[in-house]
Amino acid sequence: MIKFLDLQSQYSQIKDEVDAAIKDVVEKAAFIGGDQIKQLEKDFAVYQDSSYCIGVANGTDALEIAIEALNLPSNSEIIVPANSFVASSEAVTRSGHKVVFCDCDPNNYTIDLMSLKSVLTQKTKAIIAVHLYGHPCDMDGLKKIAQDHGLFIIEDCAQAHGAEYKNVKVGAIGNIGAFSFYPGKNMGAYGDAGAVVTNNEELANKARMIANHGRIEKYNHLFEGRNSRLDNLQAAVLNVKLRHLERWTNRRIEIADFYLRELSEIQQIVLPKREKWARQVYHVFVIRSKERDQLAKYLKDQGIQTGIHYPIALPKLEAYNYLQQNCETYSAYKNDIELLSLPMGEHLTKNDAQKVVETIKSYFK
Ligand SMILES: *Cc1c(COP(=O)(O)O)cnc(C)c1O
Repeated sequence: MIKFLDLQSQYSQIKDEVDAAIKDVVEKAAFIGGDQIKQLEKDFAVYQDSSYCIGVANGTDALEIAIEALNLPSNSEIIVPANSFVASSEAVTRSGHKVVFCDCDPNNYTIDLMSLKSVLTQKTKAIIAVHLYGHPCDMDGLKKIAQDHGLFIIEDCAQAHGAEYKNVKVGAIGNIGAFSFYPGKNMGAYGDAGAVVTNNEELANKARMIANHGRIEKYNHLFEGRNSRLDNLQAAVLNVKLRHLERWTNRRIEIADFYLRELSEIQQIVLPKREKWARQVYHVFVIRSKERDQLAKYLKDQGIQTGIHYPIALPKLEAYNYLQQNCETYSAYKNDIELLSLPMGEHLTKNDAQKVVETIKSYFK
């Protein structure tokens, strides 16, 4: 059986380190605040080429806090790509703003700049730049649009730990970035966790205060915030994983390169395209096939698990009926029935990847 994701096999690799780290936190009873969270914030900021990192409770909160920190007029329009996880758009509405969808590029699946320009209005105040599937967005292109129209860029990096745009890690290339450490992400905690990163000191302070009841000191609340902290136990696990992340990421890229090479002759599938300036970290490896459901079933019958990211484009969700935005011409709107995510992760052996390739080839023979 070839698993889509295998966190048990990952744990077996790092068991001694993780067990010791967890034990240390429990023995010290340092659950909220403490050394581990401080170290993670310091090291993850360095790792992501950003000046500041604030640990928060999860990736969705990270997005909401990032948006709130920008202090936009209520009901601002914020542009979200049509293919993403619902949190990318949910965070906009939850923060008191209006979601406006734009299309995604059908090759690398990140935000389509032409489409983005076509939905700009006087009320547009920000863009959610989702580095989907671990492929960075065209940040220079986005920055140009943002400058011309006075917009903020919020990077949704939930799938992009370690991803690079022109040799710079994502997160703080725009104004502010949000990470998720959900267990299945490229770097995942043993529960929910997330982080906000930025190079802007003022935004960093604001985000830190929002995440901790609007305060810096214990009972001195400057405004009403919320409770969204990354706890020390999760931070301890993440500190261990951060030491392995580069090796795991390089393994993902190796497997992706193998898939790209070995599957290139199959006419019936569309492979993802990695731009020259991108270090894509392949949170998932997504192909397109007109026979997606039959192919997925065939793979499953041969013991190969797959996933779909995402089966229903965001504008089609019942949750967004109220928007009444017509997105039917978007490629992301049409492509959702073709998307198929192949097994990906450091748990895969060379033989596993070989079997995935051979099974796909045999399906199309
Ligand atoms: C996982 C994910 C989120 C949300 O992160 P959580 O930690 O699950 O709240 C946001 N955006 C994208 C693109 C994601 O994949």
